[in-house]
Amino acid sequence: MTRIAIVDNQKLKDMQQKLHIQSICPVNRTGKECIRIIDSKLTIDEHLCTGCGICPKAAPNAIKIINLPEEMKTKPIHRYGENKFVLYSLPTPTLGHVTGILGVNGIGKSTAIKILASVVRPNFGDWASHETDYDKLISFFKGTEAQGFFEKIKNNEIRVAYKPQQVDLIPKTTKGSVIDLLKRVDEKGSLKTIANELQLNEVLNNDISEISGGELQRVAIAATVLKNAELYIFDEPTSYLDIKQRISISKFIKSLINEDNSVLVVEHDLIILDYIAELVHLMYGKEDAYGIVSGVKPVKNGINVYLSGYIKEENVRFRDSKIKFAEKPPIKKKHMKEMATSWHNVEKKLGNFSLKAHNGEIHRNEIIGILGENGTGKTTFVRMLAGVLKQDNGNISHKVKVSYKPQYLEVSDNLVVDVLKTAFSRYENQIIHPMNIEMLSLKPLNELSGGELQRVAIANCLQQDADLYLLDEPSAYLDSEQRLVLSKAIRDFIEQKNASALIVDHDLLFIDYISDKLIVFEGKPAISGEVTGPYDMEDGMNKFLKELGITLRRDTESGRPRVNKENSRLDREQKESGHYYYS
Ligand code: SF4
Repeated sequence: MTRIAIVDNQKLKDMQQKLHIQSICPVNRTGKECIRIIDSKLTIDEHLCTGCGICPKAAPNAIKIINLPEEMKTKPIHRYGENKFVLYSLPTPTLGHVTGILGVNGIGKSTAIKILASVVRPNFGDWASHETDYDKLISFFKGTEAQGFFEKIKNNEIRVAYKPQQVDLIPKTTKGSVIDLLKRVDEKGSLKTIANELQLNEVLNNDISEISGGELQRVAIAATVLKNAELYIFDEPTSYLDIKQRISISKFIKSLINEDNSVLVVEHDLIILDYIAELVHLMYGKEDAYGIVSGVKPVKNGINVYLSGYIKEENVRFRDSKIKFAEKPPIKKKHMKEMATSWHNVEKKLGNFSLKAHNGEIHRNEIIGILGENGTGKTTFVRMLAGVLKQDNGNISHKVKVSYKPQYLEVSDNLVVDVLKTAFSRYENQIIHPMNIEMLSLKPLNELSGGELQRVAIANCLQQDADLYLLDEPSAYLDSEQRLVLSKAIRDFIEQKNASALIVDHDLLFIDYISDKLIVFEGKPAISGEVTGPYDMEDGMNKFLKELGITLRRDTESGRPRVNKENSRLDREQKESGHYYYS
């Protein structure tokens, strides 16, 4: 197959539109049936289609015609149906190692790991057949490491334990208390130890439906590792977790490895992926159309290749431009311009929780990152600055207009184009185009994926007329590439408007990439929070990283931040000199 056609019939308006599309196909005009309409469903015969590009122009949201790279002659591993998503190849777990999977959303990462976990049976492109035996998989991967893996699966020598991506769906299918759930899956008899290590003791007796996203994530990880398995798969194990929790979960997952097992991890936080995995597979292709898995690479090299957008060994360019990082920490800006907002000894009590923010100010044309543990009052502080929550004591100057994107996103049946009216009419180049929102314009909000809804919510915040933009966790649900693209879009927008932004996030690389300065939250989660800063990047990061006990260096090739190995020479030297952030 040299070409694939993807058709989303739900996005084709009516029969009249389908008949029109059929009538303009040059192949149909010669009397052949390239585009067919059967039972009101439009389908495209990929063998007859010449790739002329006429029908995708007539229905760009519903039809994609993709000419596959010349060298791609392999049969697909799985196809969801006629004119539906296709996956080529699979990642391979390596014994005794943590292997990462890195790629944009919609490229088939979850499908690939579901196949490895035997949740999805691969059909090799024959979607009408529902049965696949392992012999087929074994012969497909003959001569590769995957052959051995599937032979072991067939002989029941490898058991797989799998943590799904969407932990927020768990309460919809599982009822009862956390401890009952964990008892049911505890094949190792180590519930007590694991609950201790993952700091779940306080929620063990709570109902699954009542715990937070971060707690749900740790419960799902506990349920996975309590099973006896030779392959552990974690699909996005750090979403909903703060940076401290991300580091400790990474250490925990790394500690599972022994010479008889292996771990696969899908992760979008590049600092964490780099920290957790030793090897990585890149996945590329076209969003919602097809996905290809690269050969396995050492993680440092793999992430750099991913940022460069070009896989030399496979001669594939999957992005037009490189993603680059600044070589040095941002230069301290002297005497910033006009002040946007300021606060002075602000205090707030909410139930048993109390928050104190010392003195601080934000100037125009500044982007301030906010770092801190979950439960130390970041959202409360942002809501007070936005004027949606009143402080008990102290002053906040509200001389500026504020636009606020909350952490949790509201859905409705409004169309994207109606919600983003101003952005479509005034900021097409600044917001709509860089954030890739055109393709979503006719979708209602309640049909968007988490990542799509996040992009729309950020665009909605930016399209408001304001001086200060407050974005609470904008990187949640976005893949690593979207996070970096988004950083640039926000930065350009803020500069052009001469406005300022305050960004709360748990992805350290994202915060490092986007911020001019930092506000740091300290305290005891759910009990007290203390806000200091804004600091310049170096001082703020040093303060925050010291608290976490980790040091960062810049990768010499890509300029991206990397976590130093604990107790390595660099780690010790940086800690001794107090330079936790880049030596
Ligand atoms: Fe027909 Fe293919 Fe051209 Fe579409 S792209 S009009 S299906 S030949």
